[in-house]
Amino acid sequence: MEAVRVRSSRADAGSTELDAAILAGLAPDGGLYLPLTMPALPDGWEQATSLADLGVQVLAPWWGSAAGEVAPLLRDALTFDTPIRPLSGRRWLLELFHGPTLSFKDVGARVMARLAARALARRGSSATVLVATSGDTGSAVADGFAGVPGVRVALLYPRGGVSDVQERQLVAARPGVRTFAVEGDFDDCQRLVKAAFADDDLRGLGLTSANSINIGRLLPQMLYYLWGVVQLRRAGIADAPLIVVPSGNLGNLTAGLLAAASGLEVAGFLAAHNANRFLPDVLDGRRAADDFPATVRTLSNAMDVGAPSNFERLRARYGEGLRDAISAVTIDDAATTQRMTSTYREDRTLVCPHTAVGLEGLARLRSARPELDGVPALVLATAHPAKFPNAVREATGRTAPTAERLEALRRGDRRVEPLEPNVEALRHALHRDTWPDGPSQEPPGARA
Ligand SMILES: *Cc1c(COP(=O)(O)O)cnc(C)c1O
Repeated sequence: MEAVRVRSSRADAGSTELDAAILAGLAPDGGLYLPLTMPALPDGWEQATSLADLGVQVLAPWWGSAAGEVAPLLRDALTFDTPIRPLSGRRWLLELFHGPTLSFKDVGARVMARLAARALARRGSSATVLVATSGDTGSAVADGFAGVPGVRVALLYPRGGVSDVQERQLVAARPGVRTFAVEGDFDDCQRLVKAAFADDDLRGLGLTSANSINIGRLLPQMLYYLWGVVQLRRAGIADAPLIVVPSGNLGNLTAGLLAAASGLEVAGFLAAHNANRFLPDVLDGRRAADDFPATVRTLSNAMDVGAPSNFERLRARYGEGLRDAISAVTIDDAATTQRMTSTYREDRTLVCPHTAVGLEGLARLRSARPELDGVPALVLATAHPAKFPNAVREATGRTAPTAERLEALRRGDRRVEPLEPNVEALRHALHRDTWPDGPSQEPPGARA
């Protein structure tokens, strides 16, 4: 079988090899990569025994004759489960937070790190991964790549824009990783990353992106949608579920839509946003699709994105049909907290603010469209509640049991550098020769 090729979301500029797209991040025309063809789900995928098993059956074949090389990488990356947890009212949480950094981002980041390392090794080259993070991406990516030969990581996060726990995870010292606290918001960080890719000087570092613009992160995220549905069926729920996705940059939602395009049967998708309401407003016709608002800070800060990058992918794929493919809703902080409170009261379950946005969004959709009441709903639980101790305590009076992994961070070494939000400052910082325990190989051009 041929390996899948990908194309840019912009001009019809031909196709690219999947591995090349994973190393490049963005397409040369500034667009985002999308699969040119979608392999159908293989026969028997419903009999899969784990997330990793699904990876081997469903995703490895995307690499065609190299599937046998990719399969062990998937097994190595997908070592934790994404179990379902029943709530009242035909609702199930799909718990995506059992990986090393306690958010769903571990799935994409761990797989992508291994795919990128393999692609680099094939080329005999090295790279610098540049990541803007609104909280959870950075630590997942840093964790996924730490110590991978030939790869350095530079994390940019908005100073003061992430929770204490998230910050502790971001500044944990890791081999080959540098963390920058940017004086600005997440959109400033994203802008810096985009500017770096357009910068001739910085491109010489062999820059690659691990943001959710990278297709190497999106593809593995398809797998837990499939695994969630497999588990529902095993629990006796045969009906196709409505899937609720707490959304920010829309990478997670895009992965779900890809899973549906490859043959997963669903009743629909709901993108649940916080007060950063670009998508709900565009679908309602209240905002033009190229009119991006500024970011607003909320309780569910990993979804604080004014201008979701992956919207470009959705638009390229669905155009005006996007309104039929998904629904979207916006939930404010007060309603988020109330939903955290009621979920604890009614279901004895502590949820993080992002997950609460999803649960509240579902409640609103069901009351607006009562015909959906009987449809089983799978709500993606995107982060562990222990990552947001203050929000959980305020909403419920409870303390989420601290995961052992977070405790270990309290004791470990930290490393962080301040950064002004402009490309000159970034250029200066990345050229400074202070990479900690870096890879043995210099990135090509680093000394040029
Ligand atoms: C990143 C993140 C989201 C948003 O996911 P997108 O793919 O950016 O839409 C939601 N919840 C948590 C906990 C996250 O870390």
